[in-house]
Amino acid sequence: MLKAIYGTKDVLPKDIEKWNYVEDIVKKIFTSFNYKEIRTPIFEETGLFSRSIGEETDIVSKEMYTFFDRGETSVTLRPEMTASVVRAFIEHSLANQSSLNKLFYIASMFRQERPQAGRLRQFHQFGAEVLGSASPLLDAEIIILAYTILKSLGLKDITVKINSLGITSSRKAYIEILKEYLEPHLHELSEDSRKRFEKNVLRIFDSKSENDIQIMKDAPKLIDHLDDESKQEFQIVQNILQAEQIPFIVDSSLVRGLDYYSKTTFEIVSGKVGSQSALCGGGRYDGLIELLGGTPNYGVGFAAGIERIILALQNEKTELPGNSVLDVYVVLLNKELLNEYYLFATALRKNNFKVEIDYLSRSVKAQMREANKLQTKVVVLFGGDEFAENKIVIKNMDTSSQQVIPLEEAGKEILLSLGA
Ligand code: AMP
Repeated sequence: MLKAIYGTKDVLPKDIEKWNYVEDIVKKIFTSFNYKEIRTPIFEETGLFSRSIGEETDIVSKEMYTFFDRGETSVTLRPEMTASVVRAFIEHSLANQSSLNKLFYIASMFRQERPQAGRLRQFHQFGAEVLGSASPLLDAEIIILAYTILKSLGLKDITVKINSLGITSSRKAYIEILKEYLEPHLHELSEDSRKRFEKNVLRIFDSKSENDIQIMKDAPKLIDHLDDESKQEFQIVQNILQAEQIPFIVDSSLVRGLDYYSKTTFEIVSGKVGSQSALCGGGRYDGLIELLGGTPNYGVGFAAGIERIILALQNEKTELPGNSVLDVYVVLLNKELLNEYYLFATALRKNNFKVEIDYLSRSVKAQMREANKLQTKVVVLFGGDEFAENKIVIKNMDTSSQQVIPLEEAGKEILLSLGA
């Protein structure tokens, strides 16, 4: 039997309302902050991701879906969105059209990771990228946006963690201090962390090894070695979050081991999704536009995983919308009136009622059973004796009351029965 690719999932009709619920709230909140939607191709030239995300990261070194197309160009299914958005920003000279670009997306991403609860190979993210301003107001705003969306969806058990990575020069100086601290412990570190010591020492903070965690506990902290500018701006971000009553903790181990990241970084975790607890993450990336060949400019953004959010909502037992019920089911009593029956249903649909009819030549009893199953609010009995006088029967399924009405009054009567 043919099956979906390992680590990918179908969203079946019974679950689609949850996705629409999340996406509707995401769009509504981004729009209220005046963010504009951007859509980019799902695949790009491989170099875009290897240059921006970095050769030494897990994503680039082992997780990308990379292949040669027929033109022998190496292409990659996007593992994240920031690189694509920045590529589009540079390619279309968006900075010339508007000095500040506040963009959002809802899109699928691809990473060849080991699938488990909350971790897939094709997954979906919504997120924002703001290009063109160094203002710490925007660092705060993206955290506020992410938090507001998660709260509006109904999540309760979430924690906001923030940190500042400083500017590149202060981080470079700190890295030397960290290496000095780690050198005597090198032989005690896990093999992975020993490799990271050479390539990307900050990432040792991400190690899951208990022993590494103990060693890193006493390590000098990046936050104590920040440059003055980053320190001041980090304070502004915290002041705004406090004023907005957004609870947060400063977590000095929250590092993003890439050179182009700077200043604010943040993550929102859920207490209800097990080991894959990060619902979203982001921060400032002032070096990226230049790295990808654009005129130097500022950037800040975040990405949130939709599957994990839905999982967290389910685990928190948040009431999620089920399939919306039907307004009207039209039962056909006389098979000779098929044309009239279909026209009648179409007329109701044109009036924006959600209408279902019988397509399977079922008996009247079976049609009534189907109407019940679909939890319809109104049943119309179409084609009985009263049809000779251009009348139909409408039945209110809540009250079980039933009345004979002229065909042309159907819309009005249905509206009354729906309580509109
Ligand atoms: P990242 O781009 O790695 O910072 O991830 C941002 C968010 O995307 C995470 O916090 C997760 O919610 C989600 N995410 C990342 N990788 C996966 C995956 N393999 N499966 C499902 N969700 C993911």
